[in-house]
Amino acid sequence: MLKQGLNSSVFVILNEDVAKKILPDSTIQLNDGRFIPRLGLGVSGLIEGEQTENSIHWALDAGYRHIDTAKLYGNESSVGRAVQEHNMDREEAWVTTKLWPTDFTNPRKAIEGSLSRLNLKFVDLYLIHWPTPIEIPGLDKKLWRSLEAFRDEGLCKSIGVSNFQSKRLAKLLGFANIPPVVNQVKCSPFHFPKELYSFCQTNSIFLVGYNPLNQGKELENSLLLKIADIHKKTAAQIMLRWAVQKDVIPIPKSKSEDRIHENINIFDFELTQTEIEELDSLSGIK
Ligand code: NDP
Repeated sequence: MLKQGLNSSVFVILNEDVAKKILPDSTIQLNDGRFIPRLGLGVSGLIEGEQTENSIHWALDAGYRHIDTAKLYGNESSVGRAVQEHNMDREEAWVTTKLWPTDFTNPRKAIEGSLSRLNLKFVDLYLIHWPTPIEIPGLDKKLWRSLEAFRDEGLCKSIGVSNFQSKRLAKLLGFANIPPVVNQVKCSPFHFPKELYSFCQTNSIFLVGYNPLNQGKELENSLLLKIADIHKKTAAQIMLRWAVQKDVIPIPKSKSEDRIHENINIFDFELTQTEIEELDSLSGIK
């Protein structure tokens, strides 16, 4: 039942029968054959040092096995330290980091810098954080060739993109020797990029959803609260469950131990198709 990349600790919070029914797999298989945990901890905004390290320890204790960082967030050193202090096999923790546009002139230096701050030999996933707003001829191809080389050299195990719209992604797919495994984009019931989602599904690219809680701005929404009440869950848990049932990988951020627990406690219930459709209507996608 369990696939590689995540140990059984996520099930500590679950009744086994429920786990079998609701969560037959706690990972999703990517187009390169690797398995990514279905939910991660985002660490944007967490301060380097105690705040980041505490959050990661709480998350790993709660069963998270997927941490999403970036050079931009300024906390890669703490991410690496916390993951290593946790004394788990390196293969058990999925670490994503990203290439920021100011490093497009020297991506190798950027990934080496990230690995050095993380104190890791490889990251699980390396993403182009944002494409240039105006396409520069040949740049995307050059960058992608660099990421493909990093993967071949073992500096990262999988490669992907972030904030790519479908037109730009289609071009990338046209020259990619290795297709991206994910596109990390803003995604919640309040911002569902329907056309991009379909494009990515057609091309076997999963969406990783950032701002999956809409940054906490819609927690009082009446539809969310109605559905939350039915399932005896919170509005935040309903948003995350919506993502999981759409095969979007949410990466909620929190600096609170209670909320970190709350955010992973979404694998013991299931939204109905009607509820999913009601939630879909929040971003006017019908
Ligand atoms: P989120 O939607 O995850 O919202 C985070 C906010 O919600 C924080 O204020 C947090 O507060 C609060 N929160 C967390 N859990 C709960 C809960 N259960 N109940 C109520 N409030 C809660 O937004 P983010 O912008 O942080 O996105 C998540 C991650 O996505 C980032 O950390 C980053 O890793 C990634 N990201 C990627 C981007 C990209 O360009 N690729 C862009 C933006 C984000 P508190 O901490 O106090 O709990």
